[in-house]
Amino acid sequence: MTTKIITPDRIEEAASCLKSGGTVVFPTETVYGLGGDATNSLAVDKIYRAKGRPGDNPLIVHISDISQLSTLVSEISPKAQLLIDRFWPGPLTLIFKKHPLVISKITAGRDTVAVRFPSNPIAQKLINLSRTVVAAPSANLSGSPSPTVCADVIDDLNGRVDYIIDGTGCEIGLESTVADVSSGETVILRPGAVTLEMIKELIPDAYLDSGLIDQDSIPKCPGQKYTHYSPKAKVIVVQGKKDAVHSFIQAKLTECDLCGVLTYRGGSYTGASLVLDAGDDMNSYAHNLFSHLRTFDKHGVHTVFAEFEVEEGMGTAVRNRLYKSSGHTIIEV
Ligand code: AMP
Ligand code: MG
Repeated sequence: MTTKIITPDRIEEAASCLKSGGTVVFPTETVYGLGGDATNSLAVDKIYRAKGRPGDNPLIVHISDISQLSTLVSEISPKAQLLIDRFWPGPLTLIFKKHPLVISKITAGRDTVAVRFPSNPIAQKLINLSRTVVAAPSANLSGSPSPTVCADVIDDLNGRVDYIIDGTGCEIGLESTVADVSSGETVILRPGAVTLEMIKELIPDAYLDSGLIDQDSIPKCPGQKYTHYSPKAKVIVVQGKKDAVHSFIQAKLTECDLCGVLTYRGGSYTGASLVLDAGDDMNSYAHNLFSHLRTFDKHGVHTVFAEFEVEEGMGTAVRNRLYKSSGHTIIEV
């Protein structure tokens, strides 16, 4: 398959491809998405195939107009409505009881469906022009870090999709928050830029799924059980106060070949093959994490020591992705 890599001025062409059952990668405010018509079973098959995604991991359906929601869900609870009014369009996916007509390949046979209304204007325009609802997982090969720049999409999916729209976006850099509002409770299944603290302002009894706190319990978000966000390099999280973290990593570098360091709030190391900085706060860490992990791979780094400090808010989402990318190899210092 030849992939057409286009700029947003050719978006009409991509939208008509989407409408006729093709696959289109587009930017969103979180990460790039791999879109297909969510009402077309063959298009949905193409998404799973292009990513190499297991069929039991359901897809998020993207809308560009709130009126489309009633075609996807069978009920909207008052709590769900509060979240919609505050956070849509934006980086929050909500899980509802599904409408009978939503095809089972989207939901992997569940009676619930995940829906998101992205705020990125290119994403909105593409969905609008395609006149359908768009299933779109992250545009990476299954297991690897989600792409936040077009070059990373091309590395994974060139030759596997019909179109890639090279656009700006992905300011956030981590996938959307996923909150289940399909029962009376509000449960966060995947942390993201809409934080637990922000949701609690509206729904004080909202909570994080136990699978996010205790790694031995069974996650309710099917995607959370798979190895995720993993670069080829081995990632080791070194967690604690900055000075202790620095001394620990510096000592390790003397006995380590092809080792890199992901710093948090700067700092220098001797003997590292590559040092990249995640930034000065957790929003920057989120924005940089996936692209830096891919850069370490491009430089042939074998082991990445990642500096980390536990923080609330966006720190919860960064911790979730970082721990997973390390296969839960965490050293507390
Ligand atoms: P991605 O599309 O790659 O950002 O992943 C979407 C995430 O949403 C995965 O972790 C899925 O398991 C999760 N998800 C999608 N639909 C549902 C659903 N109906 N119930 C629970 N989790 C879901
Ligand atoms: Mg994904």
